[in-house]
Amino acid sequence: MSAAASARQILTRLTEVMASRMHAQGKLDQVVEIIGECLSSEVCSIYLLRDGMLELFATRGLNQSAVHVTRMAIGEGLTGAIAKKVETLNLAEAKAHPDFQYRPETGEEKFHSFAGVPIVYRERAVGVLCVQHVEPRRYEEVEIEALQTTAMVLSELIANAELVDEEDALGLTAEMTGPQTLSGLTLVKGLGAGHAVYHQPRVEITQVMAQDIEAERERVYRAFDKMREQIDTLASQAEFGVGGEHEEVLETYKMFAYDEGWSRRINESIDSGLTAEAAIERVQQHTRMRMREIDDPLLADRMHDLEDLANRLLRIVAGQVGTAASQGLRRDTILIARNLGPAELLEYDKRRLKGVILEEGSLTAHVVIVARAMNVPVIGRTKGVRTTIREGDEILLDASAGNAIVRPLPQVADAFQTRFAKSREKQAAYASLKDIEPFTRCGTRIQVMMNAGLRDDMSALAMTGADGVGLFRTEFQFLVSATLPQRERQTKLYRDVLDAAGEKPVIFRTVDIGGDKSVPYLASEIAAQDENPAMGWRALRLALEREGLMKIQARSLLEAAAGRSLYVMFPMVSEPWEFDAAKTVFDEQLAFLRTQKKLLPEKVHFGAMLEVPALAEVLDMLLPRLSFLSIGTNDLTQFLFAADRANPKLAERYDWLSPSILRFLRRVMQNSVGSGVDIGVCGEMGGRRLEALALLGIGYRRLSITPAAVGPIKELVRKVDLAELTTAMNGWLTSPQRSLREELSAWAAAREIEHD
Ligand code: PEP
Ligand code: MG
Repeated sequence: MSAAASARQILTRLTEVMASRMHAQGKLDQVVEIIGECLSSEVCSIYLLRDGMLELFATRGLNQSAVHVTRMAIGEGLTGAIAKKVETLNLAEAKAHPDFQYRPETGEEKFHSFAGVPIVYRERAVGVLCVQHVEPRRYEEVEIEALQTTAMVLSELIANAELVDEEDALGLTAEMTGPQTLSGLTLVKGLGAGHAVYHQPRVEITQVMAQDIEAERERVYRAFDKMREQIDTLASQAEFGVGGEHEEVLETYKMFAYDEGWSRRINESIDSGLTAEAAIERVQQHTRMRMREIDDPLLADRMHDLEDLANRLLRIVAGQVGTAASQGLRRDTILIARNLGPAELLEYDKRRLKGVILEEGSLTAHVVIVARAMNVPVIGRTKGVRTTIREGDEILLDASAGNAIVRPLPQVADAFQTRFAKSREKQAAYASLKDIEPFTRCGTRIQVMMNAGLRDDMSALAMTGADGVGLFRTEFQFLVSATLPQRERQTKLYRDVLDAAGEKPVIFRTVDIGGDKSVPYLASEIAAQDENPAMGWRALRLALEREGLMKIQARSLLEAAAGRSLYVMFPMVSEPWEFDAAKTVFDEQLAFLRTQKKLLPEKVHFGAMLEVPALAEVLDMLLPRLSFLSIGTNDLTQFLFAADRANPKLAERYDWLSPSILRFLRRVMQNSVGSGVDIGVCGEMGGRRLEALALLGIGYRRLSITPAAVGPIKELVRKVDLAELTTAMNGWLTSPQRSLREELSAWAAAREIEHD
């Protein structure tokens, strides 16, 4: 018999039982009879959760006296193991399994084979349905599928008949109910507390049995069409590259999206009487089981992709397409996502967003930079998220320590709040440094500027006392707009920013779109050309060719800065002529404004970013053209190490304190001595204590960093003797280790400089 036919036969009979007026216990008794009969199994039993234990609720074949007597803890015995792991077991010889536990009251000793499936409600196992057989044989796939289908139907019955306590239904395993700690990689330091919200909420399946099979088929057919369309669009967007989801993943997505086998199996499940949603979920459960049997980490990754896609399909079918941002955050939130794009993060209400937990993510991905700018703590590369965190769970995120406590005990929550208060005190202490100029112990004034990108960020200037904005990422406005921002809107933003900065300088970086900063209105063009967007048609390369874009930005900046000083910086300059070409666009606009008798900026200072290593070799040619140079260590290091900054697998591989980076940066500094050009660093590196020490030790005197780091770095600067530090750095760099982290930590510790 085909899987569909056998399942349909069972479903038809189950439907009758479910529709009958019997009480719930009666229905369960009937269900075990039907399943046992249809699968020719001597035993069929249903265990349901009661008071945190799995209790035998109904059985055919085991001693009836064991009903409501036999109870297992989660994780105990085969049944407990199924519930704990929410997975299917299919064993020819139950006793041979390490989790097997004998329960004499059931009289099960004569049965050899065993198969069981979890009964899942709201993503948790709330019970187990199992069959046992005297003859030692593994159950066939169709039989397992029939069991899984039945388990889905049972979950509906359980929900309607309230057979399982709400508390039990909502959580089950200790992993799911008790306090748990997840660890990840610190991406943005800080503490945050709130309730878990999944960026892409899961669909709850409320109806399992179909009323009209044809209609369900049609729904799934249309959903497949829509999903394929979405995947094709994703494929044509550079945005897909965010967070290291590369070609390979994309290929897998496409492969799954167009996989005839997948859609066929879903259709078969519908044929057996399930709704589209239930069919998708059932097939997914089955695939999960198959994948788990194959112990291969590569396949586990693929499984993740398929889960993603199945969830997407479910959301489409259920008409639940938006992300959590579109529904709005209702309370303090810790956001959970596999990965996010910078624009996606910006859609969230900053006041309610208290932290982010990513399953992927890396330090210099733009979403992390945006989070840093929003002052939202983030951990990435977090394992076990989906099996541990439920929507709505309370979470204490300690991103500085790289962990998240899920469902904390009250005393833990209290201790966290105390730490939180202390950290706020510390922040306040940093804030008290705002009016203190950062002089080193030896009396050198260090420029500590801040990075910004949004109008809102400007309030941090006064709060931190930064010396100005060393990097204003103008593309943020482009990222948050659905269409290319018009000149008026750009001018307004730049004027507001300059007004907010008052006397302090603001270095506007012209748009750096492309790479992991894709915008929908340019995405197709970017993706059409780029296999490797970080090294592709981005930043100045794109801006110079889309001259209209550059012209509009130049006009906007020049008009906004009328009567004041304007600092303009070009990103990703690779050769000096690119700087000239960009400057020419500004010169032409200046000339135009002059003919219009418009008020011009008092002075325009032009600078470049050093992000492409090649530029370092022609500094002698470039420097005479510049008034300042800013090193973008985020991009520079990804190019020096040939390591994609957004690839989570490389997130921890190379260290900013490696000799190659530090020697490179030292050489740039040495080669520009006497040029009169103001040189600084505006990458994330400068905002970290040890890295900032290293930069000071190789000659850098201007850092532009994330606002939250201004206080800590000012404090650090005040404890440093530059001559001493420089000697130490030069010594370490003569015969270095793989990284200078240890040396610098010890050096800092000896001087009571905080260095975590
Ligand atoms: C950099 O690359 O270091 C930089 C500051 O620019 P962005 O991070 O915006 O690419
Ligand atoms: Mg850059």
